[in-house]
Amino acid sequence: MALRITEIFYSLQGEASRVGLPTVFVRLTGCPLRCTWCDTTYSFSGGEMMEIADILAVVAAHPAHQVCVTGGEPLAQKECLPLLTALCDAGYDVSLETSGAFDIAPVDPRVSCIMDLKAPDSGEAAKNLWANLAHLKPRDEIKIVIASREDYEWAREVVHAHGLDARCPVLLSPAQGSVEPAALAGWILEDGLPVRFQLQLHKLLWGNIQGK
Ligand code: SF4
Repeated sequence: MALRITEIFYSLQGEASRVGLPTVFVRLTGCPLRCTWCDTTYSFSGGEMMEIADILAVVAAHPAHQVCVTGGEPLAQKECLPLLTALCDAGYDVSLETSGAFDIAPVDPRVSCIMDLKAPDSGEAAKNLWANLAHLKPRDEIKIVIASREDYEWAREVVHAHGLDARCPVLLSPAQGSVEPAALAGWILEDGLPVRFQLQLHKLLWGNIQGK
């Protein structure tokens, strides 16, 4: 079984509860969405086909227990599911970064899904697959990128309406260049919203460069 891969690299996890942990990233090629603030547009096309066994061999060459399968949208390739299971079987702590536009129900339950909900300014809010909320496990996390005050108010409404914080941790991130991080932090504090503010560690350390 083969998948189209943009890159496999070793870095510190930049987001969510595993932030700061040495992690191997497996970036799958392709995404049917076009979020306005997407920072991985280079993963939309290209890449090279790799067998799952070869992917595992490259992952094993790095000294990390954490593996993050990301994209693009990893679940757009159906072979992503057996890849996730193979990584779990190999003993890794596996996370999956997904747009929230694909069904997460068939994902191996040992995997932590870091699932986006797309706010309006992404231009892709219509793609949110709300049925996914019922499949979230306590080990999963919801991430919402905030590009404006309107996005924040949307997120606040969604958190309350769906009781998101009772399902799993909820992360709010400012879209780079669109909203001041301190402004978002202030809004969360003002409302006492039960979410976690986060900045992307890898961008603070290295800037917005590929492979970091
Ligand atoms: S889902 Fe992710 S990879 Fe796809 S366009 Fe949006 S931010 Fe980019």
